[in-house]
Amino acid sequence: MATQKMLKFVTLKKETPEKRPADQRAQDFAEIYREFADAKAAEQASRCSQCGVPYCQSHCPLHNNIPDWLRLTAEGRLQEAYEISQATNTFPEICGRICPQDRLCEGNCVIEQSGHGTVTIGSVEKYITDTAWEEGWVKPIRPSMERPESVGIIGAGPGGLAAADVLRRRGVQVTVYDRYDRAGGLLTYGIPGFKLEKPVVMQRIEQLEAGGVQFVLNCTVGKDLTFDAIRGQHDAVLIATGVYKIREIEAPGSGAAGIVKALDYLTASNRKSFGDEVPEFDSGELNAEGKRVVVIGGGDTAMDCVRTAIRQGATSVKCLYRRDKANMPGSQREVQNAEEEGVEFVWLSAPRGFAGGTKVEGVMVQRMRLGAPDASGRQSPEVIEGADYVEPADLVVQALGFEPEALPTLWGVPELAVTRWGTIKADFRTHATSLPGVYAAGDIVRGASLVVWAIRDGREAAEAIMDYLAQSASVAAE
Ligand code: FAD
Ligand code: SF4
Ligand code: SF4
Repeated sequence: MATQKMLKFVTLKKETPEKRPADQRAQDFAEIYREFADAKAAEQASRCSQCGVPYCQSHCPLHNNIPDWLRLTAEGRLQEAYEISQATNTFPEICGRICPQDRLCEGNCVIEQSGHGTVTIGSVEKYITDTAWEEGWVKPIRPSMERPESVGIIGAGPGGLAAADVLRRRGVQVTVYDRYDRAGGLLTYGIPGFKLEKPVVMQRIEQLEAGGVQFVLNCTVGKDLTFDAIRGQHDAVLIATGVYKIREIEAPGSGAAGIVKALDYLTASNRKSFGDEVPEFDSGELNAEGKRVVVIGGGDTAMDCVRTAIRQGATSVKCLYRRDKANMPGSQREVQNAEEEGVEFVWLSAPRGFAGGTKVEGVMVQRMRLGAPDASGRQSPEVIEGADYVEPADLVVQALGFEPEALPTLWGVPELAVTRWGTIKADFRTHATSLPGVYAAGDIVRGASLVVWAIRDGREAAEAIMDYLAQSASVAAE
């Protein structure tokens, strides 16, 4: 019986792949988790109780068939496990590394709920797909027939790339436009290598290129090429441009040198890891070496900034957040990793202004307490009067989140409907926008979200685009 290999959660403890020691990993940008050894992946997969109603699967945005690939892994049938896992996920090795599993699949595993410690789903998913790459099981993209229709995709992040993959496999001619010099979006330039090593992303982009996806890089739509020109060149268009407008701190002194934006800081660091020339890094502007660093924010971007600063050799790294640890938006796993690496969290603190003249010398911090819950049930921070102090700093990184750029204005298409938050209005199932033949996916629709949701949107939008192309072809034939 297949299930005899399973249900081992009572006798086997939860184990994640080994983490490199904090003092060692703080010296480089390599991933912090080692790979599972073969026997360990099978053993950990065998802890699954093969639920009839698997909550892990329903809480995975891609509805991955988790129980089946866990069972196959436990039975040593890794290639079959990979086939099942890749059927629903375009980039399983990426999700296995960077999904906040504690809030998605693993957080809803019944074994976790019953106090035995979750099945380590993400690590097994990563293990299966990394093995598939090593063993040559990841098949090249070879459409069985070429189709005449072409689709233009604006944005080469996970949303755009997931759509490109689905469309190209069906034989559609796909061109992806991106303003950066490398594809991958935030996978390439936002998320640091210690969470996601760059060769993992680049091998997927090479796979898409080898499969016939055309990339037009260094091309900002709205500047180098108009949106109308792209619409004119393609039968359908997908907008997957993400959200990049930073929420800036408006406080006295915020224009001083030494106060930088999170994404500029992270992009410079990622570019250095690629071996690029980065003058702003070399000049010290976007480099934390030898500095007292303060990062403002409590989300995943802030966590990536503090851990990058540690690796760059900052003398101290502090993270200011206006709520407490229990109420921060970032993943608790990442907070723990940051604390192990030497980051100090200053909870219940917010910037009131910045000390210094043209160059920042410190953050004027006001202490907060949590007041009554607001309409969403979340406790609102309130200022404690008279408790302000100055936190010395040579580099301050603002990581308060991102908002959408005003695409209808930037692109001169007022008919492109947006929500009151500026995100593009799109049908939640088909991802169709207010413009015929134009679809939208990922953060530009959801607001700042997650890679796994962008992948889901991209895949769904591609399916809807296939239907649209088929309908357009049948109308043309009438
Ligand atoms: P993006 O990845 O933002 O890609 C959009 C692409 O569009 C970019 O390449 C951009 O250059 C291009 N573009 C934009 N405008 C134009 C234009 N006018 N012309 C041409 N090209 C354009 N999510 C997780 O799941 N796990 C994590 O650990 C995680 N960590 C994160 C860390 C950081 C620092 C940040 C900022 C985000 C993180 N996220 C994480 C969120 C995740 O990266 C995003 O939700 C995801 O990348 C969104 O995908 P997307 O395809 O919609 O957009
Ligand atoms: Fe979990 Fe993310 Fe994998 Fe889904 S894609 S199973 S949420 S790690
Ligand atoms: Fe297995 Fe947990 Fe999913 Fe149940 S919820 S099928 S135990 S991984």
